[in-house]
Amino acid sequence: MLIVTVETTVELAAPKVLETLSPSRASDFKLCPQLFKFKAIDKIETPATVHQARGTTAHLALQRLFDDPATDRTPERLYDLFREAWVELRNSEYPDMFESQEEEREWGIQSLGILANYFSTEDPSSFEPTARELDILQEVGDMTIRGILDRMDETADGLIITDYKTGKAPPERYAIPAFFALKIYALLIRQRTGKTPTHLRLLFLNGPTVYEIPINDRQLDAMERQLEALWSAINRAIVSGDFPTRTSRLCDWCSYKDICPAFASQGDPAVAESGGTESGTGAAA
Ligand code: SF4
Repeated sequence: MLIVTVETTVELAAPKVLETLSPSRASDFKLCPQLFKFKAIDKIETPATVHQARGTTAHLALQRLFDDPATDRTPERLYDLFREAWVELRNSEYPDMFESQEEEREWGIQSLGILANYFSTEDPSSFEPTARELDILQEVGDMTIRGILDRMDETADGLIITDYKTGKAPPERYAIPAFFALKIYALLIRQRTGKTPTHLRLLFLNGPTVYEIPINDRQLDAMERQLEALWSAINRAIVSGDFPTRTSRLCDWCSYKDICPAFASQGDPAVAESGGTESGTGAAA
């Protein structure tokens, strides 16, 4: 994700417009415009969680697993890569994550248990990915979209885009919205290569659960129109400063619930009076 900070004198500067948008931030705006504002406009950082630390570390280990020859891609090798990645990330990104070595050790054991599930979802010695952690910056119409795609494989059935998740899978009836960001990646790949991916895959290691859906040009055309509408809506919100809250059951997991105007009456009275944090005037998200 690219976030560009636009220096501005808040009261006098003219409203800016969106410069780039990532699939994650597009998902945020679709879910709740106020959530998008907290993350992309106000850039309010929230404390890193053990789940984020696990996700980042596991992604790095899975990415590096394919640096090795196919015959070396064993569970033991993946565990070693996870440990090595954690040593790197602990100091740079998560220095105060654990209060004790015991806590850290427990987290590590749980993480390796989740990683072990990976081998029951696929055999990494049986294929060579076409791309891993692919950083894409792509024009789509008048929009500029940027994101990092976990993995893409060229198979007999066509191009498959895979996204790793270290959390638990939602029930199947709630799974389709989880493909929103992957559809954007498929659109970017089509734009970039001229080839339409054939399948999108969400690989939830904590289970494990694999959800896979077919994708085609008609769906990607619809995705492009949806993205254009979203892009315009974000620009209107930036100009007006109006980012409505959209409450849902997901609010219980939202890191910003304590400062969200929708819940202000339950929290800090000062937040209730101000209607939440004030908007800046420029963004790329
Ligand atoms: S708590 Fe709910 S309404 Fe408030 S920002 Fe988060 S998702 Fe949006």
